Formats: sequence, structure tokens, C-alpha cells
Amino acid sequence: MSPDLLDALDAGLAWLHDTPQPDDALAPFAAGLDTDTHHLAFNPAWRRVGQPRLPLIRLSATSFEPLADDELAAFGTVLAARVPVSASPTRDTWTLATDAHPSLLAAWDRALACPDHGLRKCDLRDDCPWRPTGRAALRLPVVAGRPVQLELFAA
Ligand SMILES: [Zn+2]
Repeated sequence: MSPDLLDALDAGLAWLHDTPQPDDALAPFAAGLDTDTHHLAFNPAWRRVGQPRLPLIRLSATSFEPLADDELAAFGTVLAARVPVSASPTRDTWTLATDAHPSLLAAWDRALACPDHGLRKCDLRDDCPWRPTGRAALRLPVVAGRPVQLELFAA
């Protein structure tokens, strides 16, 4: 596995579990990290109906080619050597066995609705600063020289 992918994995895991978030941060999306060949997405609070919510990680290729089974299996092995893994709901996703940092989960929950307007996207209608301010406050994973995207994430 490439050093870049390992760096991205370690940055995402540090974000999920070890990065305290400010009290006004909003985490409405997963964090996505690219290497030259791969994309890793870290969802702090994925939930399958009837199951507890847990961090979910997805590995994909930056090209449109699907990843080979042996590459996905190798990634799963590396991941499981770093953190307890609960399950692999699909061939390219893994749920972790331990919750995201409580402050990240709080930022996730806060992002569901503005306390003043009750909407998730009130800045689009009411020019409310809640969402842009909260997103700016969110601490993101850090990988030198690599941008981080906030992204919708459906498993
Ligand atoms: Zn608002």
C-alpha cells in the first residue's frame, strides 16, 4: 500500500477519534482525502437502520476503475491492524467498532438544524451565518499538501 494512502488513512483516523472540535463546529458531511490514485472518505456517524451509529470508511479509486478485491482486502487488513473494525457492510466500506470523538459527534448532531431557523440550509434563504460559520470552525484532517473535501456520503 502506498505511503500516501497510509498517510491519508492515519490522518482520517486521527480526525475521527482524536481531534477535539470547537463548540460551534458543524460536521454535516464526511471528510474526503485524495491520493494520486485513491480516495478515502471518513463518515463520523454512519447508521444502518436498527444499528448503532459508527464511523464508516470507504476506499475508492480516483479513476473510474473499480478497485480489485485483493487490494480492498489488503486495505481492510491494514485498517484492522490500526483500529478495531466492526464490519464491512460492502466490499469497499468498513465500520469501526469505536465511536468518533464525542465533540465530532456533537458537531454532526448540531449540523442537522440551525437553532434559530430550524433548517439545515438556512443561509441559502435567510442569509444566516450559522452554517458557514460552523463549517469554518470545523477542524479537518490534515495531510501535507493534500486538500480535504467535505462530501455527501451514502453507503
Ligand atoms: Zn439559521
